Amino acid sequence: MPAQIGVTGLAVMGANLARNFARNGYTVALHNRSVGKTDALLEAHGDEGDFIRTESLEELVANLETPRRVLIMVKAGGPVDSVIDQLVPLLDEGDIVIDAGNSHYTDTRRREAALNEKGLHFVGVGVSGGEEGALLGPSIMPGGSAESYKALGPMLEKISAKADDGAPCCAWISTDGAGHFVKMVHNGIEYADMQVIGEAYDLLRSAAGIEPAQQAEIFNEWNQGELSSFLIEITAEVLGHTDAATGKPLIDVIQDSAGQKGTGRWTVQSGLDMGSPVSAIAESVFARSLSSQRDIRAVGQKVLTADTTEVTLPENFVEDVRQALFASKLVSYAQGIDMLTSAAGEYNWQLKLDEIAGLWREGCIIRAALLKDITAAYSADEKPANLLFAPAFAEAIAKAVPAWRRVVAVAVQLGIPAPVFSSSLAYYDGLRRDRLPAALTQGLRDFFGAHTYRRTDKEGTFHTLWSGDRSEIAAEDTH
Ligand code: NAP
Repeated sequence: MPAQIGVTGLAVMGANLARNFARNGYTVALHNRSVGKTDALLEAHGDEGDFIRTESLEELVANLETPRRVLIMVKAGGPVDSVIDQLVPLLDEGDIVIDAGNSHYTDTRRREAALNEKGLHFVGVGVSGGEEGALLGPSIMPGGSAESYKALGPMLEKISAKADDGAPCCAWISTDGAGHFVKMVHNGIEYADMQVIGEAYDLLRSAAGIEPAQQAEIFNEWNQGELSSFLIEITAEVLGHTDAATGKPLIDVIQDSAGQKGTGRWTVQSGLDMGSPVSAIAESVFARSLSSQRDIRAVGQKVLTADTTEVTLPENFVEDVRQALFASKLVSYAQGIDMLTSAAGEYNWQLKLDEIAGLWREGCIIRAALLKDITAAYSADEKPANLLFAPAFAEAIAKAVPAWRRVVAVAVQLGIPAPVFSSSLAYYDGLRRDRLPAALTQGLRDFFGAHTYRRTDKEGTFHTLWSGDRSEIAAEDTH
């Protein structure tokens, strides 16, 4: 019997996705550049379902039902292009090539256009949930043509995570690179989510002197309420873990230098390109970069003074930190979703924000109770222009604001960096304020570059003759 899907690239992610398809009753043809990984998979898990072993892409393609579905799960970048180049001559019109790796959405757009010209479908699929998710049910974000989704979607939905209400955490996102774009933004939010958790931990430890084991209990408790999420749950696990070698909390022996694979940086770069203010995500990426400048930080410790202020901690400081964490987390989701809206305009994608929030409810790293409410906010007839304006969230954040301000003030006074707590609060205040100092920016730009400005009291574009008699003239818009 021919296979319903072929998987090429059987490192940990590809192998687990292949097993997931097989466990769900699909016949899966397997291929890896070096045959050892194929054999290792079959030896360890060959009894989990129907697999077909192949040694070449020709053999893989020959073993597939039509239209063929070939899922590529190789190293992102050049290797994906190389596999596509080898596959294309072997395929027929209407076949579907799927890239489920972490590809940049602009690469996906390029590949989709190229394969489309050859009569092939190309589907860029964002997959979140790590190794375990790939095996047990990830959150899946497929882009590409609606037609290809008809042939592929049911299979992806079957292997995906399921939300509380049984809905699959997989839905067609939109055309070409939309799936990988949404996955990228998911990762950007994940960066911010992890950074705000880190800031909460640091404040509880450095300002309130709460040790990791006790913090594990606090995070466990937080996980029962509105902060309930995978990342809060595993924070309790990590903080509660003791290092076997030293007997110290593991957190104290892990080097404080954060790695990154690039998807957070991509989110920020795209945000800058689209003029989307993803400040919380940007600060999270920068916080990782600063942490990894270990040599420079070693000098900073010697030459820079703290000059902190004595502070009496607010009475319910732990609860204040919880609220600041919740409010900052909401901002990072709001910024990520705002960026999706910008991208929809830029690339003509029909993004359904309720469906996207819905498929992040389970299976992915940012899964959180909150996503149920975000889904509801964007299912309403009147969609909020910003997540923070949805009535439920406007109310929740209003409740948190006093605590949020107290926590940021404590962080500043004690010299504890809390870049996402404070930049999120600045974003919130920026959204809320009647007047922003951008008026002065425009005045300055007009002064040195005749960039013109608009007035609050009448239509048109104006320029002041700064080096002349300082009278105002109507001007061409040079904004
Ligand atoms: P990986 O380490 O990124 O890549 C290894 C695989 O790529 C191997 O099968 C390797 O074949 C193959 N490969 C490398 N260069 C190749 C080439 N030029 N031609 C053909 N095959 C080539 O594998 P991974 O960790 O399983 O990740 C796969 C993809 O998933 C990546 O895009 C990664 O970023 C993404 N990923 C996603 C998550 C997630 O949570 N969604 C987690 C991890 C990774 P050989 O065995 O022959 O060397």
